[in-house]
Amino acid sequence: MAIATEIHQEEKSPSKACNAEKRWTLSDFDIGKPLGRGKFGHVYLAREKRSNHVVALKVLFKTQLKQSQVEHQLRREVEIQSHLRHPNILRLYGYFYDQSRVYLILEYAAKGELYKELQKCKYFNERRAATYIASLARALLYLHSKHVIHRDIKPENLLVGLQGEVKIADFGWSVHTFNRRRTMCGTLDYLPPEMVESSEHDANVDIWSLGVLCYEFLYGVPPFEAKEHSDTYRRILKVDLRFPLKPVVSSTAKDLISQMLVKDASQRLPLVKVLEHPWIVQNADPSGIYRS
Ligand code: ATP
Ligand code: MG
Repeated sequence: MAIATEIHQEEKSPSKACNAEKRWTLSDFDIGKPLGRGKFGHVYLAREKRSNHVVALKVLFKTQLKQSQVEHQLRREVEIQSHLRHPNILRLYGYFYDQSRVYLILEYAAKGELYKELQKCKYFNERRAATYIASLARALLYLHSKHVIHRDIKPENLLVGLQGEVKIADFGWSVHTFNRRRTMCGTLDYLPPEMVESSEHDANVDIWSLGVLCYEFLYGVPPFEAKEHSDTYRRILKVDLRFPLKPVVSSTAKDLISQMLVKDASQRLPLVKVLEHPWIVQNADPSGIYRS
């Protein structure tokens, strides 16, 4: 894959668009404050010197990538993400590497992790939840049109941009990520029945996850949470969906969730219909930006 040179091309010198040979190096960037750390390395705020474009530079250690045997996965995911262009999908502008590290040049999401916001507020109000769900439905429609299935939509994989817009931000390898949930395995809560049963699955898995996310936004906990793994599995397979009395959630929201959390994948409300659902139409800010 050719290394993308889009920061130069788009921000500064479109006349150099043909300069596909340009390779990034660390000296192209001023490195700023650390933004966080993940399993395989660290993320820093950085500025591309020529264009002054602010980015997030993710530094991954090759030894750790090798140890965890995720090099192939990383390569495939970089290839996928670098070709995606959507306001609610974190851009990957390019990558480079040296002897010991791989560097990913990512769009900077100034407002950080949605997961932390949710923890802070405990749960979101309906306007905020609907605005995020609509943005994510649009992003998923775009992904599916590119034959990409995300398979791992959850708050930990969502970042927030400067304006408050939600961004899907992960490489689909989160089976390898740290567990930050009270339940034993963060990924479990979002698994649809067909993946629990490991039967065939398609793009409709993302509708299920969106339903789980919608529930978690509104109630602060995922719908099938249980102390034991086996109980979560059982609850997912039964679609044991219960709506607590508190916090109070509108019946239209519950109706939408119920139509996404359907065991038969082919019967889940299509994403286009999600966007037309009364709860979305009445609550989502059309700009995709939640203003408190
Ligand atoms: P994993 O390495 O398994 O993906 P992770 O998602 O926790 O784990 P990273 O994706 O490496 O870790 O990111 C670490 C932290 O850095 C994030 O949790 C987030 O707070 C911050 N971060 C990552 N990317 C960006 C970005 N593009 N803009 C702003 N902050 C970011
Ligand atoms: Mg991550």
